Amino acid sequence: MLALAHAEHVRFLRLQFTDILGVNKNVEVPASQFAKALAGDIMFDGSAIEGFVRTEESDMLLQPDLATFRVLPWGDPDARVARVICDITMPDGTPFAGDPRAVLKRQIARAAASGYTMMAGMEAEFFLFRPAPDGRPTTQTHDVGGYFDLAPVDLGEDARRAMVDLLQRMGFEIEAAHHEVAHGQHEIDFRYADALTTADNLATFRWVVKHVARQFGLVASFMPKPIFGQNGSGMHTHQSLFRDGQNAFLDEAAEWRLSRTALHYIGGLLRHGRGLCAVTNPLVNSYKRLVPGYEAPVNVAWSMRNRSPMIRVPDRRGAGTRVELRLPDPAANPYLALAVMLAAGMDGVETQADWREPVNQNIWEMSYRERRRLRIDDLPQDLNEACDELEKDDVIQAALGEHVATHYLAAKRQEWRDYVTQVSQWELDQYLAKY
Ligand code: GLN
Ligand code: MG
Ligand code: MG
Ligand code: MG
Repeated sequence: MLALAHAEHVRFLRLQFTDILGVNKNVEVPASQFAKALAGDIMFDGSAIEGFVRTEESDMLLQPDLATFRVLPWGDPDARVARVICDITMPDGTPFAGDPRAVLKRQIARAAASGYTMMAGMEAEFFLFRPAPDGRPTTQTHDVGGYFDLAPVDLGEDARRAMVDLLQRMGFEIEAAHHEVAHGQHEIDFRYADALTTADNLATFRWVVKHVARQFGLVASFMPKPIFGQNGSGMHTHQSLFRDGQNAFLDEAAEWRLSRTALHYIGGLLRHGRGLCAVTNPLVNSYKRLVPGYEAPVNVAWSMRNRSPMIRVPDRRGAGTRVELRLPDPAANPYLALAVMLAAGMDGVETQADWREPVNQNIWEMSYRERRRLRIDDLPQDLNEACDELEKDDVIQAALGEHVATHYLAAKRQEWRDYVTQVSQWELDQYLAKY
């Protein structure tokens, strides 16, 4: 690694990790410190970082995962910057309980103990907006393009192509890139991988997309619902379990060609859909995406075809047999989101959860009674309800671990209180003159 860094003229190394809210953090070290950094000997003060707190245990070590070492394909070719994603440990080497990557690794290990490996692919949607003269983002889009539109309408194409190019040079296998339904909305899909790699990739992806957008004079936003009346941004998560190198969701002889493992996994996602929502849909704003009419789910249900329920089973079998959870949005911490989805699915597999019947009609058009008869629950209506559901769900809380669950809930409850005590423009418009 040191030889490679030398050969590629790497002068700075960024040691990356995310806080519990999924925000990328990094500590940058110059070449003189590379050997120390790669040996896992860089210490930092964790007390300044969201969800890390506890001043008495604030000294933490960054342990680089060498498989994630990448030379950044931009900047000065004679003074390159590289990055490596790190695990966070206490000075005695034990994993730090507040490290989201450690939370995901725990669930991966738990599934491995039963012989399973989770494979996951995330489709993160985002908007490209124009900045105001002071550089702050606006919600003005740079184009009037729609789903799969071609240039010249799609002015974001150049930016998107540059994103694809940089991502590929960082080792991503890009499968597709296209304009999404809303004005200024885009999607870039990269190849699925094991859950840890996908979480690392998603963290890198958001960072590269924002970097390239800035170079094009735009602002990329992964906010779930930036514009009222337009589609929001989802992060559909395709998932499957592999066992002995085979896709354990496939059973050629079974109904729908789905194995019992797949059906129980679906049952687990249904059982914990309301409980894991606060993690996969983490913002006050997330719940403004989960409303009828914008291709986002509103109910806890699954379907073979229809896109209104929370889970869809794409029409793909063989090694690509998978379920698509359409609930998450791209503001989620990818490590925690994958950890709770895997925990929910594994709980379903281990307890042989009931998967109920797939719902192939449009749920938005059903009456309340019809939905009750089919046992179709609603997803939480807002972040507060989602926090209540997380507090009731022992399986999801245990997956997060006590440290993360406590800090996460405290941060989200605070966010909710801040929001709900504001007086909004909507209220003024509705009430000021009338009352
Ligand atoms: N933007 C939609 C969502 O909120 C998804 C649209 C699509 O990919 N078909 O999830
Ligand atoms: Mg897609
Ligand atoms: Mg999409
Ligand atoms: Mg999708």
